[in-house]
Amino acid sequence: MRTNQHLRLLAFVAAVCLLAFSGRVNAHSSNSSGEAAAEGTGGLREVIDARYMGRYLEWKKEFLSTDIGRAQWEMYSHHPHLLLTITVSGSNANGAGSGKYKWNDKGELIEATISLGRELNEGFPSSVYYPVMNALEPFEAKQLIGGSVLAATKIAHEFGHVMKISSTPKDLYHLQTQLVPVYNKIFLNNGYNVNDPRLVELAKQMGGNPVELWEDREYWGEANAMLFLRDRVAKEKFHCRLFNKIKRAVEEYAKNYEERFAEIAKSQGAIYACSWR
Ligand SMILES: [Zn+2]
Repeated sequence: MRTNQHLRLLAFVAAVCLLAFSGRVNAHSSNSSGEAAAEGTGGLREVIDARYMGRYLEWKKEFLSTDIGRAQWEMYSHHPHLLLTITVSGSNANGAGSGKYKWNDKGELIEATISLGRELNEGFPSSVYYPVMNALEPFEAKQLIGGSVLAATKIAHEFGHVMKISSTPKDLYHLQTQLVPVYNKIFLNNGYNVNDPRLVELAKQMGGNPVELWEDREYWGEANAMLFLRDRVAKEKFHCRLFNKIKRAVEEYAKNYEERFAEIAKSQGAIYACSWR
């Protein structure tokens, strides 16, 4: 559809501008230091200010109320080399972010930080890049779910980022961090021409243009968010309505990434039986 293509181009330009001016390869990455940190012990470290502790424990309880949440938490609690820090921050109140990645000389991820907004239980991101978290909105409005489910879904999204970055080669990540600003600078000065041979070459080296890299990361976060919701709402009457809503958004905005969502839907008969084929 022409209108849809036009909207996607506008979204692309807007996303590049956002990425360029925020100066980050990944809206969720706050540190891309190449230094190898001292080899420490893996595990999960919670650094929570006393004034946010009550709400944080509620969100965590919600995340741990599912098999998948418990399994992922256990995995990081006993991780042999990755130290995952979780913190609640006063900034980006409804959002969350993952970053401060560090690798050892063997190329293993040894440090990562997930920073949760202090009002994580509120605020629904757009369905274009966040088809899973966004789908919760009408169910929250009708009080079928509480804010803690939204917060726990956002935690699952961030765990998805950390899992994905653990399997991304360190050198590729650093190459992307270096080349994305170069790409964005050219793009913003060449009349938004993605066919510019310099940009085609940069995208080839990085494994995609900045928006493709960014949306791929976001959709991995959303895939893990969906995994969490699959367990969380399995017994709720509205689970088919929720997953149909996710499906429609994925089909409309994330067609190229549909497979990773469909795999999760197929991994549990109940959701698959809804309508996901
Ligand atoms: Zn994200």
